[in-house]
Amino acid sequence: METPNARTMVSLRGVDKHFGDLHVLRSIDLDVAPREVVVVVGPSGSGKSTLCRSINRLETIDGGEIRVDGELLPQEGADLARLRAEVGMVFQSFNLFAHRTVLDNVALAPVKVRKVKKAEAERQALELLDRVGIADKAGSHPAQLSGGQQQRAAIARALAMQPKVMLFDEPTSALDPEMVGEVLDVMTSLAREGMTMIVVTHEMGFARRAADRVVFMDHGQIVEQATPAEFFDSPRTERARSFLASVL
Ligand code: ADP
Ligand code: MG
Repeated sequence: METPNARTMVSLRGVDKHFGDLHVLRSIDLDVAPREVVVVVGPSGSGKSTLCRSINRLETIDGGEIRVDGELLPQEGADLARLRAEVGMVFQSFNLFAHRTVLDNVALAPVKVRKVKKAEAERQALELLDRVGIADKAGSHPAQLSGGQQQRAAIARALAMQPKVMLFDEPTSALDPEMVGEVLDVMTSLAREGMTMIVVTHEMGFARRAADRVVFMDHGQIVEQATPAEFFDSPRTERARSFLASVL
């Protein structure tokens, strides 16, 4: 297997994953450059979430290798915890701690994992909440926030670990339509600021605006990769054409 060059932030080589008899990821090769925004699209069940979860080692893989910033993702141990902290993840459900304030939700992990002093972590958390537009909610509990605000808090929480890469798995799918825009706006600014991002989404407008590259998955395989303009205006495969017909 070829060693990826130093300019690759996330690199997958021949990644395979089964759930029982189901072959969910089939020899996936993917390189994401620093500052690149890759949007992953594809039908339900095509393996998009499993791909994200594998990069964060929430799933083990059966074959191939995954590197983050050149480092091989280990199966377990202290190196795994350290590497995992470099990969921020935002899910469809916000997973905030219900009994903590929004500020605590953002400040807790840096204190526990990165050993940042509490006061400093809280200062940084406030800055992040300001960046995602909800500094005024710092003292509230998650249930007092709208879905869009909760998801922005979840993004701030992921950013608090100073990740090298951010993974988003359908971050707006659980939101009321009127709140989708505010979350996509935060993601768009993050992209503009140069964050390396892998985003699974059905928001094709966001893909067109923010993606450097669109990756189309079907049945556990990467079927096409192209710039948004190429992918949306002239998809090369019948599978991509019928997928686009179903979502656009
Ligand atoms: P997507 O995110 O593209 O909808 P997933 O990665 O969630 O696809 O799922 C890919 C396939 O793997 C689906 O057929 C799904 O049912 C199956 N799958 C996902 N997670 C599990 C699991 N923990 N156990 C068994 N099958 C799973
Ligand atoms: Mg999914």
